[in-house]
Amino acid sequence: MFEKILIANRGEIALRIQRACRDLGIKTVVVHSEADSEAKYVKLADESVCIGPAASSASYLNVPAIISAAEVTDAEAIHPGYGFLSENADFAERVEKSGFVFIGPRPETIRMMGDKVTAKQTMIKAGVPCVPGSEGALPDDPAELVKLARKIGYPVIVKASGGGGGRGMRVVHTEAALKNAVALTRSEAQAAFGNPMLYMEKYLENPRHIEVQVLADEHKNVIYLGERDCSMQRRHQKIIEEAPAPDITPRLRARIGDRCVDACKRIGYRGAGTFEFLYEDGEFYFIEMNTRIQVEHPVTEMITGVDIVQEQIRVAAGEKLAFRQRDIEFRGHAIECRINAEHPFTFVPSPGKITSYHPPGGPGIRVDSHVYHGYTVPPNYDSMVGKIIAYGKDRDQAIRRMRIALSEMVVGGILTNIPLHQELLVDNRVIKGGVSIHYVEKKLSQQKKAGSAT
Ligand code: ADP
Repeated sequence: MFEKILIANRGEIALRIQRACRDLGIKTVVVHSEADSEAKYVKLADESVCIGPAASSASYLNVPAIISAAEVTDAEAIHPGYGFLSENADFAERVEKSGFVFIGPRPETIRMMGDKVTAKQTMIKAGVPCVPGSEGALPDDPAELVKLARKIGYPVIVKASGGGGGRGMRVVHTEAALKNAVALTRSEAQAAFGNPMLYMEKYLENPRHIEVQVLADEHKNVIYLGERDCSMQRRHQKIIEEAPAPDITPRLRARIGDRCVDACKRIGYRGAGTFEFLYEDGEFYFIEMNTRIQVEHPVTEMITGVDIVQEQIRVAAGEKLAFRQRDIEFRGHAIECRINAEHPFTFVPSPGKITSYHPPGGPGIRVDSHVYHGYTVPPNYDSMVGKIIAYGKDRDQAIRRMRIALSEMVVGGILTNIPLHQELLVDNRVIKGGVSIHYVEKKLSQQKKAGSAT
């Protein structure tokens, strides 16, 4: 096992990885920007190295600075967390070439899954069901485009092959709008991801977002840890996640889980990964694979008892998975609310100093957060300041506990989306379970209309 790991990330996930390391008896090095020097996990780490100014491009994305930090501190492995460099194949390669272990899949795997056109082609070959669409990259010829969209059937969604984070996609409802939409998305994709390649899918009108967590080691062991429902989103970004997904039967779970395991074996997957699907009318349609730890991993941890971050580290050290598929039992229900420093209904970011902070507690409540009383949320990064995870013996209890936790939580001095979570957790459709990915935004836009009418 490693003696020392460098954590190349910030915020709650830096703290989460640090906790996993400590549990395993591993020393930690944290790299941080000038804006994060007061962060809790920086103080708690065995060592810390400032790698640059606040701007991510100069710090958390500064590959040479991160590699030198690993060299001077004698770290053996680098955990990339999520976001930043976590799905950057060139970074993973640099880490390995510099003699460190990258805690994640092989660079080739990251590259293959990061190119969504290749990822989909790979999944089709592996027998994973995909959203119907273009089998490869979109052609330049407008006549070909029109033909393709007709064959798929409107509405279609045009997506960037190099896209991520809910950006670089556009829904097209009519043939008249097609050419323009493709041109716009292509230039956006080029600007944002440096890759103009696009693909097209049938736009599913009322799907849920359901994803499957997998773990794989270097000894040909692959398991699935069940699914999460992440349909509650704003601007294509998740805000509430839960496990298990409402109405997914053990049979359906095993069927899709087995497919994911087979695909992992085929591509020689290593580490933790997530297969993301849209789910409509009882069918799963693959959209992408995330080759890293995800924000919402705790809900799976709560219902399986598996520490996914520890397993990532153990697998990276060459150990066998600590679990076989038959050891995995799904018990109870877990819900996660992402607490963002933002206006609850307009989503405008609200960085600044936290003047009072009281996290919730009690049976079944887990809070993963790096913030504290007096902490200043920097304006430079993602607005998420933490996550509340509520566990219950069933979904009703998990929801009840989450409501109590939200009512106890105080984050003063900045705006947070707690009021939005509170509204959603008393909404009848949400309580029933299984809303589509459009539900939250539809509800909010209806409220806005009703508000302006009175
Ligand atoms: P990203 O990597 O940017 O997260 P994804 O391909 O995972 O991109 O899609 C993100 C979100 O966009 C999905 O969760 C869903 O809300 C929406 N979306 C993507 N593809 C489709 C589709 N074919 N039909 C309907 N919605 C889609």
